[in-house]
Amino acid sequence: MATTMHAAVVEQFGKPLVLRELDIPSPGPGQILVKTEACGVCHTDLHAAHGDWPLKPILPFIPGHEAIGLVVAVGSGVTIVKKGDRVGVPWLYSACGHCEYCLTGWETVCAHAQFGGYTKNGGFAEYILADPNYVAHVPADLAARDAAAIICAGITTYKGIKETAAKPGEWIAISGAGGLGHLGIQYAKAMGLHVCAIDIDDGKLAHAKRIGADLVINASTGDPAAALKKETGGGAHGVLITAPSLTAFKQGVGMTRKRGTCVLVGLPPGEFPVPLFDVVANCITIRGSFVGTRQDMAEALAFAAEGKVRADIELQPLSAINQVLDRLEHGDVASRVVLEFASDSSEMTAVEHTAVTAAFPGNVTAGPGRDASAAAQLGYPDQALGTV
Ligand code: NAD
Ligand code: ZN
Ligand code: ZN
Repeated sequence: MATTMHAAVVEQFGKPLVLRELDIPSPGPGQILVKTEACGVCHTDLHAAHGDWPLKPILPFIPGHEAIGLVVAVGSGVTIVKKGDRVGVPWLYSACGHCEYCLTGWETVCAHAQFGGYTKNGGFAEYILADPNYVAHVPADLAARDAAAIICAGITTYKGIKETAAKPGEWIAISGAGGLGHLGIQYAKAMGLHVCAIDIDDGKLAHAKRIGADLVINASTGDPAAALKKETGGGAHGVLITAPSLTAFKQGVGMTRKRGTCVLVGLPPGEFPVPLFDVVANCITIRGSFVGTRQDMAEALAFAAEGKVRADIELQPLSAINQVLDRLEHGDVASRVVLEFASDSSEMTAVEHTAVTAAFPGNVTAGPGRDASAAAQLGYPDQALGTV
């Protein structure tokens, strides 16, 4: 087996990722090594690379949390997966398994949860270390490239729709018809809902219609909440906001029917104003939703394996990652880009080759309570990490 791998690394927030040749990590006790076949590029990777959120990842790190690959090595004590299994390494990389949230099926909010491509190195690399207890088990009839977007965009919208509590025959409004939204539309249709897709891009809306949206509204022309209320006789029973835009959040609350639920999943940095009187007087619920549990993952993948939901993907090589992120930032990706990894890495010869120990000079910081192993995995011993 090769001893080095190619990876796209965030070395500085807001700067292009750097393509590096790094040592392939080896799995310790209780860990597995996955050889990446495909990894979707989520808008969250862009937030991560920009350092958009209050809790920032430790630099340097490898993003990517829609990675699908084959288990090529298992550490001691691993029994739940074996070599040759196809697994996904998702955003919920691991959790403690013992806190009140883990015990009640809310491991997504475990205080000790680790996040793939954020607090742990992710799938923009030819190999990834993973926790076998939290990987997604990819159904046999789902190709790696088709499973990739399901393990973040799919599970997040599927869970988010369930969290709206909208019932078959009722209306759901899905704001943002991009990577998340185009899958959300399909899950919602498969779950028997009437779907209104909202976006600011006519191309995305035309696509939303093609994949089953009953109604589409362009939010950049006129008042989308008023238009939706008129068309649905009072607003959507459930609203799912995936758009990475604060304007979309304010509009989404306005689209919610009396006694309906507005679920927030988009994560643009910042805050948005809530019209208190409307929310109180109309008994509206506003609820956050964060990816999904391992059970949600199995269900979300089953929809895809049964052909009820299909990610519309554009394949690109790892070496194109900076162009892909740039296009994602400018709304220029039709649905989802999936990085596909060649079985040999000859296409990567243009990559900058750097010895792993010399790859990351400079300051590397770890915040209190944060896991330092992502940076350590890139060649720094944990004790080299300072705190901020
Ligand atoms: P994307 O870029 O693929 O899609 C975003 C879509 O929103 C685009 O179609 C864009 O045209 C549309 N949009 C932009 N402004 C809009 C507006 N004002 N009104 C309506 N639509 C608008 O992004 P994505 O990969 O789908 O991710 C979307 C967001 O969801 C990101 O903020 C990401 O971090 C977040 N996310 C959250 C979770 C979670 O667990 N809560 C999981 C994954 C992603
Ligand atoms: Zn994601
Ligand atoms: Zn826990």
